[in-house]
Amino acid sequence: MNTTLEKYTVREIVDGFVYNELEGKGLFGLSGKLTIQPEYQRNYIYADGKKDVAVIDSLLKGYPLGLIYFNDVDDAHFEVLDGQQRITSVGRFTTGKFAVKDESGREQLFSSLPSDKQTKIMDSELLIYHCRGEESEIKEWFKTINIAGISLNEQELLNAIYSGAFVTLAKAEFSNSGNANIQKWSAYVSGSANRQEFLATALEWVAASKGLNKENYMAAHRHDNNITELRAYFTSVIDWISGVFLDVESEMRGLEWGRLYEEYHANAYNPTAVSDSVQRLYADPYVKSHKGIYEYILGGETDTKLLDVRVFDEATKKAVYTQQTMAAKTDGVSNCSLCAVGHDANKRKIWDLKDMDADHVTAWSKGGATSIENCEMLCKSHNRAKGNR
Ligand SMILES: [Zn+2]
Repeated sequence: MNTTLEKYTVREIVDGFVYNELEGKGLFGLSGKLTIQPEYQRNYIYADGKKDVAVIDSLLKGYPLGLIYFNDVDDAHFEVLDGQQRITSVGRFTTGKFAVKDESGREQLFSSLPSDKQTKIMDSELLIYHCRGEESEIKEWFKTINIAGISLNEQELLNAIYSGAFVTLAKAEFSNSGNANIQKWSAYVSGSANRQEFLATALEWVAASKGLNKENYMAAHRHDNNITELRAYFTSVIDWISGVFLDVESEMRGLEWGRLYEEYHANAYNPTAVSDSVQRLYADPYVKSHKGIYEYILGGETDTKLLDVRVFDEATKKAVYTQQTMAAKTDGVSNCSLCAVGHDANKRKIWDLKDMDADHVTAWSKGGATSIENCEMLCKSHNRAKGNR
C-alpha cells in the first residue's frame, strides 16, 4: 500500500459538502471528488452537541484535528477511511447545521461568527494521508486505525469486512433512523439503529435459525442482491411477539426473542389470557424477575425458576427449623416430615439446619405466600424431589 501526505484547507474539503439527514451521513466534499462516508463506514455519531462542538473549538483555537486518511479509489475519487466524523462535523458546522458558544456564552452559527473567525476555520489546514492499495489491504488498515477514537463495535466491523450489496441493503433497512418501523422494533430490540444494533439483532436471529453465527451468515450472503430472507425472518419474529403479547413492557426490550420464537412459535396462545397472566405476574410481589415472565408464560407457566420467586429469609428458616426440630425430638421422628413418614434409615434422623432447605407448603404457583406460616423445612434431597415451586 502506498501513502502520501498532503495538506488541504477546510475550505477545500467542505466545498460541495452534502449532509443527508435521512441516512445520518455526510456524503460528499472536495468539489465532489470525496466520498465522506462510504458503505463500510459507520453513520455520523458526533451530533451530540459535545464531540461536534469540540471539533469546531479545536479549529478556532488553532489546534490540529489529527491525521485523516483517504483511500484513493482513482486519481480523482477519494473515500474517507478515517476522519469522517471530524470532516462531517466541520461540514455540518459550515453549512449551518449546529451552533457553538462564543466567549460570552452566546450560541453562534457559522454565518453569525465574525468574519475573521470564519476565515480562521476555512483556512485551517488538515493533514491527509492518501492511501492506495488492494481492497483487502485497505480494510485491514481500516481495522487498525480505528483503534483510536470511538472504536467500531462488532457489527460495524463486520459491515466493513463484508461490505457489498447485501450490507448496503441491510443497512438501508435496519440502520436507517428514518425508517418508521424502528420505533416498533425498539419495543423488543435494544440499542440504536445508528450503531447497527438492530441490524446485529436481525442477523443474529436469522443466522441462529440456520445454526450459523452472524459472521458466517454475512459471509454466505455477502454478494446477494436482496435481503429477503433477513427481512422476512425478522418481521416474522416481531409480528409473532406483538401478536402473542398485547402489552408492551420495558422488560421486553432485548430479550432473546429469536430463540423464544424458534422454541415456541408453533404453539397456539390466547393473547387475552396471555395479557392477564402478564398483568398478574407483574403485580405479584413474589416475582423478582420481570424479564423472565415472558418465557415463563410461553412455556406454559411451569418453570418458576425463570421468575426468580422470592425465597424465605434466613431468620424465617431458622425459626421454622427450631420449631420443627423440637417437635420432632418430642415425637421421636425425623425433623424432615417426608423422612419421618418414610421407611428407611432416615426415619428418625435429625438433620442439621445446613442440610435442610425451605419449601412452600402451598406452592407459590398455587397462591402460597413466602411467609413463615407457609414455610416448611425439608432435607435437601426431599426438597429437591418436591421440585422448585
Ligand atoms: Zn427428608
